Amino acid sequence: MEKFDVTVIGSGPGGYVAAIRCAQLGMKTAIIEKYPAMGGTCLNVGCIPSKALLDSSEHFYNAVNHFAEHGIEVKSPKVNLTQMIERKRGVVKLSVDGISYLMKKNKITVFNGHGSFVNKTTIEIAKADGGKEQIESAKTIIATGSKPSTLPGITIDKKRVITSTEALELSEVPKHMIVIGGGVIGLELGSVYARLGAKVSVVEFMDGLIPTMDKGLGKELQRVLKKNLGFEYYFNHKVTGVVAKGKEVTVSADDKNGKKVELKGDYCLVSVGRRPYTDNLGLDKVGVKLDARGKVEVDEHLRTNVDNIYAIGDVIKGAMLAHKAEEEGVYVAETMAGQKPHIDYNLIPGVVYTWPEVASVGYTEEQLKEQGKKYKTGSFPFKASGRARASMDTDGFVKVLADEATDEILGVHMIGPRVADMIAEAVVAMEYRASAEDIARMSHAHPTFTENMKEACLDATAKRPIHI
Ligand SMILES: Cc1cc2nc3c(=O)[nH]c(=O)nc-3n(C[C@H](O)[C@H](O)[C@H](O)COP(=O)(O)OP(=O)(O)OC[C@H]3O[C@@H](n4cnc5c(N)ncnc54)[C@H](O)[C@@H]3O)c2cc1C
Repeated sequence: MEKFDVTVIGSGPGGYVAAIRCAQLGMKTAIIEKYPAMGGTCLNVGCIPSKALLDSSEHFYNAVNHFAEHGIEVKSPKVNLTQMIERKRGVVKLSVDGISYLMKKNKITVFNGHGSFVNKTTIEIAKADGGKEQIESAKTIIATGSKPSTLPGITIDKKRVITSTEALELSEVPKHMIVIGGGVIGLELGSVYARLGAKVSVVEFMDGLIPTMDKGLGKELQRVLKKNLGFEYYFNHKVTGVVAKGKEVTVSADDKNGKKVELKGDYCLVSVGRRPYTDNLGLDKVGVKLDARGKVEVDEHLRTNVDNIYAIGDVIKGAMLAHKAEEEGVYVAETMAGQKPHIDYNLIPGVVYTWPEVASVGYTEEQLKEQGKKYKTGSFPFKASGRARASMDTDGFVKVLADEATDEILGVHMIGPRVADMIAEAVVAMEYRASAEDIARMSHAHPTFTENMKEACLDATAKRPIHI
C-alpha cells in the first residue's frame, strides 16, 4: 500500500491549494478527485464558467445598448449561445489543465476516483472502471465541497427546473426565467440570461436582494437590475411548489399575507444555497462528527474530532467562497507543518459579479448597530467619478464605515464598476487597521474607479470629499 504524509480528498480551490502548500512544505502529498476534471465546483461549474458567461453576455448587452452611443455602428448583434457556451468550456478546460500542471509541478500524486475512509489512516479509492485501490495516509484533509440544495416541494428535473450547474449549459435563451433565491448565484446567472433577452423574475423569501450583505447594496442592486435588465421581484414570497409540464414551469408561492401567487415561465432556476457534500465518505467508520446542518465539525485549527483528520472549504462552517476555501487550505497545511498561521474571517471579502458589481468586507451597518458600536459613515457615488462617466458606469457608490472615536475602518461596501477588484484595497487597509484618514491621504491614480474609495474615506473621516 502506497504511503503518504497527507491526503486531500477533493480537488476544488480548498483541496488543490491545500495539496500544493503541503507539497511546498515537504510533505509527501496525494489528492483524490472523483471527477475526471480537477478544480471542483469553482473551476468546473462555479466561479470560472459563470464569470465566462457573465463576460460574454455583458459584451452582447453593451453591443446592443451602448455601442451606438460610443460611436460604434454594428448591424443588430445576434446571440450564438452554442458558441458562447463553447467558449466558456474552453476557459474551463484551460483552468482545469492548469491545475493538473500544478499537481505535476509540485509532485503531488493524483488519484481519480471516489475516496472514502476505511479507518483513520486508510483511504479507499473507488475508480470509474470499478477498480479499487487503498492508500495509507498519516493525515487527511476533507475538502469535498458542496452541491446545490433545493426546497421541499421542488424536484430538480435538470431540464426545466434547474440548478446553477444546468444554467451554465443551456441550449437556448429562456423566454422567462423564474429565479428562486435573490442571492449571489441567482442574480449572476439571472443577469446572464436577462442580458441575452430573457425576462427574469426573482422570487425571494426575504425582503430584498443579497440579504446577508449591507442593506444599502441590495437596495441599489435591486434598482439597477430593474432599470437596466427589467428584473421583476417577488419579495417576502415563500415558494410552495414548482411544477414542470412540457415547456412550461409553474412556480407557486405564498406572499407575506398568505395570498397564493402563481408564476409561469419556461425555466426555473433554483438557487437557494448549497449543502455540504459528504456522501459515501465513510465518516461513520472513523467517527468524524457533523453539525446539525450536515457540515463537518472543526475546531479553531480546522481539525475534526478525529486528531489526524482536518476539513476545509464549503464542507465546513462559514461563507461558501472559493477564496475562503483557499485560505483554509493554506492554514491547515501550515498548521500541520507546525507553523502558526492565521485567518481573519471578518476580512474575507464577498463579491457579486453582476453589473454593477457588488463587493463588501468587514462589518455591515446592520451588524454595527446590533453590536451597539458607535460608527460614522462616508460615501461617494460613481456618478461623481470622472472615470465612471468616461465608461458610462455611473450607478452605485462606495460606502465606508469607520469607528467614531478612532477612525479605524470597520467595513467597506461597494456597488459599481470593477468593485470586485477594488475591494482588495479595503482588505489591505483593514488588515493593517488603517483609519479612514490614512486612506484619504494616499494618492489614488486619476482617473480611476479607486478614487471613489479615497473620496468615501474623506467623507467618513471629516465630511470633506473634494469632488462632490
Ligand atoms: C455558479 C457558482 C458560481 C460561484 N461563483 C463564485 C465566485 O465567483 N467566487 C467565489 O469565491 N465562489 C464562488 N462560488 C462558490 C465556490 O465555487 C465554492 O465556494 C468553492 O468551489 C468551494 O471550494 P471547495 O474546495 O470547498 O469545494 P468544491 O469546489 O466543491 O470541490 C470539492 C471537490 O471534491 C470532490 N469530491 C467530493 N467528494 C469526494 C470524494 N468522496 N472523493 C473524491 N472527490 C470528492 C468533488 O467532486 C469536487 O471536485 C460559486 C459557486 C457556484 C455554484
